[in-house]
Amino acid sequence: MDLNDTPEQAAYRARARAWLQENRAQAPVLSGPGALTEEAEIIAARRKWQGRLAEGGLAGVTWPEDYGGQGLGPVEQVIAGQEISRAGVPGILDAIGVGMLGPTIIAHGSEEQKARYLGPMLHGEEVWCQLFSEPAAGSDLAAIQTRARRAEDGSWVLSGQKVWTTNAQFASFGLLLARTDPDVPKHNGLTMFVVPMDAPGVTVRGLRQISGEAEFNEVFFDEVHLPADADVGGVGNGWRTALTTLMFERVTIGLGGEGLGYDPLRFARALLAAGAQRDPLVRKRLGEIAAELTAVRFTGYRVLTALQQGQIPGPEAGLAKVTTVNSAIAAGDLIAEVLGPDALASESEWAYMISFLPGLKSAGGTEEILRNTIGERVLGLPAEPRLDKGVPFSELRAKETAAQ
Ligand SMILES: Cc1cc2nc3c(=O)[nH]c(=O)nc-3n(C[C@H](O)[C@H](O)[C@H](O)COP(=O)(O)OP(=O)(O)OC[C@H]3O[C@@H](n4cnc5c(N)ncnc54)[C@H](O)[C@@H]3O)c2cc1C
Repeated sequence: MDLNDTPEQAAYRARARAWLQENRAQAPVLSGPGALTEEAEIIAARRKWQGRLAEGGLAGVTWPEDYGGQGLGPVEQVIAGQEISRAGVPGILDAIGVGMLGPTIIAHGSEEQKARYLGPMLHGEEVWCQLFSEPAAGSDLAAIQTRARRAEDGSWVLSGQKVWTTNAQFASFGLLLARTDPDVPKHNGLTMFVVPMDAPGVTVRGLRQISGEAEFNEVFFDEVHLPADADVGGVGNGWRTALTTLMFERVTIGLGGEGLGYDPLRFARALLAAGAQRDPLVRKRLGEIAAELTAVRFTGYRVLTALQQGQIPGPEAGLAKVTTVNSAIAAGDLIAEVLGPDALASESEWAYMISFLPGLKSAGGTEEILRNTIGERVLGLPAEPRLDKGVPFSELRAKETAAQ
């Protein structure tokens, strides 16, 4: 644990542990004997379980009490995660909604939006998705082309395409970044919207991954009508609103192995069970992985301390993400070398981690982009050259072509 709980935090941990002890029999079984197999059944069971976790005070831990949360700090949120993983039960289904989009609505949404959306989101009654990335706008998110135009009556008409949208296949709503003014520099003409995923003109198409899952999707918008008050945070303020979401995303992923469950002891147990501890090279590689993950865990605690004191964490959360993902990939490679093809068999506890992790290199900021940020903001290296400063979005293509 190593969190040095204060007496209040220790009391919260004890309450969380007792609640989980009492309620764990209600948790859906997702692996091993008796595991649910049908996707629809799994989603329904996980939504219900999220509702129970919210009632037990283990979801929305940092959300204000007015919106159903616990009004506690990020340390208590980590404590809840630790206790959930200790109890061996699944966490919440809608980590994107509760961890990133809900806090964005809390920070920038209208009172009506907060009252309408936050409760059902927290209790898993309505799952949300993040409609940011597009085929030509991932790392360069401000280059998005999905357009929202004002109709004469003040409502909006949305057209365009998003990609990599996790959970869109069962989401009720999405938080979507759209271009509302192409005639100003690209960061200025953006607006964030709430989009009902069952609105006429929304089409969701699944993308199957190497892990066999189809967790994310392409989403198409064909003249989708949105009400005049569907914007979150004001027209033209989309970039500011998006930065709030991205900050919560970095922090969620940047807290590292803690949140994602990449525990060096778990890796060591697998290697021990295969008798590989006799090989000095295996021991050396495991030692390196354990050292990196332990260091990143304490970096995560520094991020937590900053958050707990009301500060905004710096680029170190990005550094933690890069290190966590690379160390977990190194652990997956080592386990695959020791176990051989069995590591990727469908019943192997490692198959999902090994095939999913390369994708996590891109999710929440790619390694190259995070390294650029660390280079510029931590090491003080010169910034990348930029062609887009002060240029209206509608003139950018011509400027880029002229520069080639
Ligand atoms: C598992 C997973 C889940 C995701 N879920 C969602 C979701 O729910 N909602 C959502 O909106 N998005 C989601 N994404 C998308 C994610 O945010 C993007 O993958 C990410 O922003 C990178 O964008 P891209 O894939 O378009 O890559 P690109 O930006 O096209 O980058 C391609 C390559 O070029 C490199 N590169 C780009 N620019 C530079 C530069 N300036 N300097 C050096 N190298 C550069 C990148 O590092 C990368 O290696 C998800 C992605 C994954 C993998």
